Amino acid sequence: MNVILMGLPGAGKGTQAERIVKEFGIPHISTGDMFRAAVKDETPLGLEAKSYMDKGLLVPDEVVIGIVRERLGKDDCNKGFLLDGFPRTVPQAEALTATLEELGKKLDHVINIQVARDVLIQRLTGRWICPVCGTSYHTLFNPPKEPGVCDKDGGKLFQRDDDKLEVVTQRLDVNIAQTQPLIDYYAGQGLLRNIDGERDIPVVFAEVSSLLRG
Ligand code: AMP
Repeated sequence: MNVILMGLPGAGKGTQAERIVKEFGIPHISTGDMFRAAVKDETPLGLEAKSYMDKGLLVPDEVVIGIVRERLGKDDCNKGFLLDGFPRTVPQAEALTATLEELGKKLDHVINIQVARDVLIQRLTGRWICPVCGTSYHTLFNPPKEPGVCDKDGGKLFQRDDDKLEVVTQRLDVNIAQTQPLIDYYAGQGLLRNIDGERDIPVVFAEVSSLLRG
């Protein structure tokens, strides 16, 4: 089962990816994780990737395509794979199509976990942290008993800069603009499967699994 998983920040892609790879026993190929590991190990790839990642830019297509091509050629991908964070551009998608053809494989599904922009903003801006004990709350999912105050020690909760509305909105809008051409590309190939990601995690996963079981 050869699958791409797509979803904007806050859509629950990471959670669904974890469950899918566990349930179906396929490798989770996350280009972001591969780059983070390379940065940590200070490999040449890591050093190159870091300069882009630190600026919030995409790593150049030829670099990403190279590592994905190598990874897909490994034996554990013979039973399938879940691609996460790749492709991010249409040239990456085209290179993936060509690579899979060389390897005698094809994509089965492109799953897109859909959540409306305003819901994503609510999810992504809801985190508040206690400066005293570090406890994290969420205004929707795990609110403190008294708004803005830590249940444990009465600390005045604060919001991290990258959870603030302007930053979140900017990040989402960049992602939406980047993702749309890929959605169109895979819709055009008849591979796109939209899943409503505004429901509870197990409900979303049940739909994803039944789709993958076909
Ligand atoms: P992620 O964890 O998927 O958000 O990836 C973290 C960072 O790694 C991104 O901000 C990019 O700098 C880089 N990256 C991951 N995947 C790709 C990709 N497919 N194309 C280009 N850059 C990528």
